[in-house]
Amino acid sequence: MAIPEEDVARVRAATDIAALVGEHSSLKRVGLRLTGLCPFHQEKSPSFSVNPQEGLYYCFGCGASGDAISFVRAVDGVDFVEAVERLYKRSLPPNAACITFDDGYANTLMCAAPVLEKRGLPATVFITTGYLEGGRMWNDTVIESVRRAGEQLDLSSIGFGRFKLTDMSARRHAAQVLRRKLKYLDPEDRAQKTSRIAEIVGRELPEDLMLSVPQVKELIRRRIDVGAHTVSHPILTRVDDVTARREILASKATLEEVTGAPVELFAYPNGQPHRDYLRSHVDMVREAGFSAAVSSAWGACHVGSDRFQLPRMKPWETSSVGFVGRLLYTRRAKREETA
Ligand SMILES: [Zn+2]
Ligand SMILES: [Zn+2]
Repeated sequence: MAIPEEDVARVRAATDIAALVGEHSSLKRVGLRLTGLCPFHQEKSPSFSVNPQEGLYYCFGCGASGDAISFVRAVDGVDFVEAVERLYKRSLPPNAACITFDDGYANTLMCAAPVLEKRGLPATVFITTGYLEGGRMWNDTVIESVRRAGEQLDLSSIGFGRFKLTDMSARRHAAQVLRRKLKYLDPEDRAQKTSRIAEIVGRELPEDLMLSVPQVKELIRRRIDVGAHTVSHPILTRVDDVTARREILASKATLEEVTGAPVELFAYPNGQPHRDYLRSHVDMVREAGFSAAVSSAWGACHVGSDRFQLPRMKPWETSSVGFVGRLLYTRRAKREETA
C-alpha cells in the first residue's frame, strides 16, 4: 500500500521521536542526544542514539537507523519475507515472532484475520491449492464423517474395525485413530479408504472448509501473506520425485496467478525432517524459486538456521499461561532438526 508523501511528512513532523523510542527503551540524555539500549538487538550497554532535533535514530551496534516512520515500521510487524532477510542480517529484534497458518482453511479468514487485523499483526497462510475450487483434505473427510456418524460405526469392511461413538470424546478418539491409520498410506489408497468411510457414514459433508479464490484475494487485501503448501498435501517422502516437484511448482504457480505477485514462501506438508521430506525436497523448493521455507521441526530460528527449513512451534495450548510457557521454552531451543 502506498502512503501519500505529504502524510508521511506530516506524521514525521508531528512525532516526538524521543517519546516514541522511549516506549521501547529507556533513554538518558547525553549532550544533545539521548541514548539507551537498542530495541532491535540484544545488548548490555547502550549503543542506541536518538537525535530529537533531527528526528533521527542510529544504533552503533547493529546499524539500525531512520526516523519516526521507519522506527514504527521496524518495531511493529514486518512480514515473513522481511523477517527472514533481517534474521540473516542480524537486524531482527530479539524475541521477534512470525505467525503462520498451514493448509488454507477458510476459518483463517473468518476467525483469525479479524483478530490479527485488530492488533496490526502480519501473518502468512500456507495454502494447499488443490482445494481452492472446493473439496476437503482427507483428514477433514474423516473428522466430518465421524462427527456425523450414528452411534455404531462399522468400518470392518475396510479393515478398520468397529467404533462405538456414544459421546464426543469417543468420536474425537475414533477420528484420531483413523487419521493415524490413514496418514502414511499411499495417497491413492488413502483417498479410496477415506471416501469409503464417507460412503459408509452416508451423510452430507461440508464443502466450504477450505479457502476459495475470492477468499485468498480477501486475505491479501487484509495484508495477510500467502505461501505455497503443495497442491494435494502429499507427504513428499511417499511420492516419487516427479510428483513431488510438480506438487511444489504447481502450488506456487497457482497462487501467483491468484495473487498476481511472486510467492516466496513454502511449507512442507506434515513437515517433519527425514520422515516427511528429505534433502532432495529442500533442493526442489530452492530450485523452484522460493526464498524461504518452513518445516514442522520444533524450535526458534537463529542465524544458523537453514532458510529452507526454518523451524516453528505449534501453540496447541488453550491457556495463555501454557502458551507463554511454550514460547519461553522454544526460545531456548538452540538446534533444530533438519533433513
Ligand atoms: Zn541495535
Ligand atoms: Zn499442512
